[in-house]
Amino acid sequence: MYTLTAEKVVEMGTATKSNEPLPGAIAPEPCLVVPAALPSHDTAAGSASPGTTASEQAMSTSLPDFLDGWLDAHAAEVIAARRHIHANPRLSRQEHDTAEYVAARLAEAGLEPQLIPDGTGLTCDIGSGDRVIAIRADMDALPIHDPKQVPYRSSVEGVCHACGHDAHTAILLGVGRVLHELERREGLPGRFRLVFQPSEEQFPSGAPTMIKYGALTDVDAIFAFHCDPQFQAGQIGVRNGPLTAACDVMEVRMQGRGGHTSRPHLTSDLVNAIGRVVVDVPALVNRRLDPRQSVAIVFGAVQAGEAANAIPQEALARATVRVHGRETWDMIPDLVQEVTRSVARASGVDCEIDYRRGVPPVVNDRAASAMFAGAAAAALGPDAVVEAPMSMGGEDFAYYLEQIPGAMARLGVGRPGERLDIHQGDFDIDEVALSHGVRVMVHTVLAAAQSPAF
Ligand SMILES: [Zn+2]
Ligand SMILES: [Zn+2]
Repeated sequence: MYTLTAEKVVEMGTATKSNEPLPGAIAPEPCLVVPAALPSHDTAAGSASPGTTASEQAMSTSLPDFLDGWLDAHAAEVIAARRHIHANPRLSRQEHDTAEYVAARLAEAGLEPQLIPDGTGLTCDIGSGDRVIAIRADMDALPIHDPKQVPYRSSVEGVCHACGHDAHTAILLGVGRVLHELERREGLPGRFRLVFQPSEEQFPSGAPTMIKYGALTDVDAIFAFHCDPQFQAGQIGVRNGPLTAACDVMEVRMQGRGGHTSRPHLTSDLVNAIGRVVVDVPALVNRRLDPRQSVAIVFGAVQAGEAANAIPQEALARATVRVHGRETWDMIPDLVQEVTRSVARASGVDCEIDYRRGVPPVVNDRAASAMFAGAAAAALGPDAVVEAPMSMGGEDFAYYLEQIPGAMARLGVGRPGERLDIHQGDFDIDEVALSHGVRVMVHTVLAAAQSPAF
């Protein structure tokens, strides 16, 4: 069994670090691994026993040393998996090949992956017991051209792994193999579930599909990474509380009597009315909310009229409504629609509103965030832990966190001097981050399995 002593805690979520212990928090100090049957002090001290491999000896001393040994032997395979997936990207709900590739690698390692019925996602349990800690990776790519000149460039025209889901998938494969190796040698402190999901990028989201097929059954907590090129490889961005925004979409349609611009009083002046909606609704909604709740209503499309001297009979505007807090997200649809109707009515116009819910916000659990911070410090050193900023992007990992506690951390994948962003075709990662991801995630989930916090 693996014992992680709690001495010091790095609590994220504020810009300051606190020494106040959190429930289930783990130490950023080296995590001692106490094997069920420690071969001998000699072995623990590093002298070789005949018949043991370097990684077997290392594991007997500490988890970091075991991971060093495993990655020395297998980091190239993790990179190769990432490159294979990068070169063979599949769009949302078309991840059959990727899922089969992952399932084949897990089966080769002696594991028993379970594909979901349509073959676009899979789960794989490792270890035994009633306590289950899950780890999630998303597998879909984006409809973007890949302009990179690299050996692993996309082989599918117009499709590219520009969000790093290839890295998430390869890291989770590596984590699964590490956990399986630990189980085989010394047993695990619980059961671990790898969750490889389809369709993070598009509606309908893949997370509810995986939940429908039992991905969260018996699960006590769930963890995930998302690549972030704003952070250098070797850095892990952690945040307690809201991490990503909910993103809803609203369409406002107006119809009315058009006419000559010389006689607006005889018409419904839709250009004027839609202009007021675009300008006034964001401002008025913000006046009705707690200023500490950030809401961003931004119109991305307005269509009305053609001629300079004709008031049109139809107008349309489309906006995204982005919200960080769960409670604000619950009340925002009614508020936004009420304000929009009243602004239109003040211009003498009625409107139809089509308001569509997006994914909920990702709200990281406090103990789970602290666990990521402690694990990152233990695996990579205390300087590796940085505070992740809130993002206005959406992320369907939120669906899991609606049901159980957990956290998503930002995996630094940036290279010095490079300014790349996700969702660009030339986005690429510093592949050393793959090993960092395996290390930090293994530390995190072993700590979570032994924590009373879940
Ligand atoms: Zn994305
Ligand atoms: Zn993504």
